[in-house]
Amino acid sequence: MDQYRVFGNPIAQSKSPFIHQQFALSTKQVLNYRAQLAQDDTFLAEVESLIKNNGKGANVTAPFKELAYQLCDHLSERAQMAGAVNTLLFNTDGIYGDTTDGLGLVSDLKRHAVGISEKRVLLLGAGGAAKGVVQALLDEKPSKLVIANRTLSKAETIVSQYNIDNFSACTFEQANEQIFDIIINATSAGLSQQALPIAEHIISKAGACYDMVYGKTPTPFLQTAKQLNVNHVIDGLGMLVGQAAESFMLWRNVMPDVEPVLKLLRAEINGNQS
Ligand code: NDP
Repeated sequence: MDQYRVFGNPIAQSKSPFIHQQFALSTKQVLNYRAQLAQDDTFLAEVESLIKNNGKGANVTAPFKELAYQLCDHLSERAQMAGAVNTLLFNTDGIYGDTTDGLGLVSDLKRHAVGISEKRVLLLGAGGAAKGVVQALLDEKPSKLVIANRTLSKAETIVSQYNIDNFSACTFEQANEQIFDIIINATSAGLSQQALPIAEHIISKAGACYDMVYGKTPTPFLQTAKQLNVNHVIDGLGMLVGQAAESFMLWRNVMPDVEPVLKLLRAEINGNQS
């Protein structure tokens, strides 16, 4: 049977095996997808072993996305720009690497009827998650894309890789002096329920606020957006399922329906799965 894995550390919490098993069932694909814990010094050997044992592909999550990038023989353009991959495809040409997080984010925004074209977009954070979605956001032709980060130099480094006029970096304070249609939180602040120094007046003027973090309780950023009656307040669960769907498509050449899986996961997170 075709074998797939998600490598990470930690990995026990990963929802990817559930998501891909559901995709396989709904598309009638026969495959085996499992979570596999790896270490820095075992990751390469684990990938090689998977390839030898009928491995067709893998997902890669923290902290191995950059390491996985280095072992690819071929890369998508967006993976090259991100310097990291979350999806590996094994074929006769070797290892192909792609990053599907950006497609997952954009497809989730579209699912919520939030278009990016001609919109002013603020991306908060300059870590791996932010890097991974920049190309997909730019592909949608926003009127401007601004990255704000606590450590400004990291945001500036990302922007310097692209030679695009309407793409810039700034501090949170400078972001508070502008107006945006869409604000996307790609920081990890919400994981520990920390608030960001983003002023209420810019949140209230946005039509959509998105946080890549998801959970039973909305992040402080999304709570503020809800209180300020922002039209679209969205967490990152749909992005998670969306990026998985794009990986599945790359491996199996069939696009699974994200809605049923999203419903099941939402119910599980809210603790009311029947
Ligand atoms: P990194 O550790 O690479 O980056 C963390 C980012 O958050 C940095 O920009 C950091 O700023 C910023 N940050 C952390 N705490 C604070 C704070 N208190 N105030 C302001 N900024 C803060 O993490 P990733 O980029 O890999 O992941 C970010 C988040 O996105 C994670 O929570 C992850 O779970 C989520 N994610 C969700 C996905 C999904 O499918 N829904 C996919 C990928 C990621 P600085 O540079 O100054 O340290």
